[in-house]
Amino acid sequence: AVSLTNVTKTFGDFTAVKDLELHVKKGEFLSMLGPSGSGKTTVLRMIAGFEEATSGTIMLGDTDVTNLPPHRRQVNTVFQDYALFPHLTIAENVGYGLKVRGVSRAEREKEVATALEQVRLSAVANRLPHQLSGGQRQRIALARALILKPEVLLLDEPLGALDKQLREEMQIELKQIQREVGITFIFVTHDQEEALTLSDRVAVFNNGKIEQIGTARDVYEFPQTEFVARFLGLSN
Ligand code: ATP
Repeated sequence: AVSLTNVTKTFGDFTAVKDLELHVKKGEFLSMLGPSGSGKTTVLRMIAGFEEATSGTIMLGDTDVTNLPPHRRQVNTVFQDYALFPHLTIAENVGYGLKVRGVSRAEREKEVATALEQVRLSAVANRLPHQLSGGQRQRIALARALILKPEVLLLDEPLGALDKQLREEMQIELKQIQREVGITFIFVTHDQEEALTLSDRVAVFNNGKIEQIGTARDVYEFPQTEFVARFLGLSN
């Protein structure tokens, strides 16, 4: 569903992403791990279209999106600071993107009901954001993204703001929701355990390149480079 071929990103004379090759299958859950500054967020931003690739090609499905603006791409992003409109109800927040697209009220209501069911929050449809818990707000942010039926959902540390227990609960939920909706998820996290729990495959970044990509089990059991072993704390 997502293919990056020979993608490079430079900022001035600094190369943040080097000649990257990354292919993510439809419905796959891919996590990007790696030290701070290794290029993970830059890759997400290039897929979303917030950042232009300096060279290379980005495909979403059969569409070459390399030069398309964000709103022309079948992607959506969930960030850590999932700002909801404070004065709109949960249902209005979730339906907002459809309203902007000119979808009729009746159709919107139907889609909002489905999206709220997907994140198991139908009961709070008429509340305001401040009346929800952090975990609930996080799920609403997810519903808001899913309702637009993106080909790919990008998640940049979406659980980063939650405390440990809630975070673990949300990991399980997130995985279930992803299985149900069958959308490709590309996930950035600093939490290795989280990556291990959630992902079909993990990509370990170092210096703008992927050091290793494989199932979590592969990467943990058979680290291919010294860097990967050390980063995952498997050797010193
Ligand atoms: P973190 O885990 O801290 O979020 P990351 O792996 O996501 O890090 P990126 O945010 O992709 O790393 O940054 C990769 C490199 O590119 C960093 O050295 C960063 O300073 C640099 N960089 C990112 N955006 C810009 C920019 N707009 N201008 C200049 N340099 C940038």
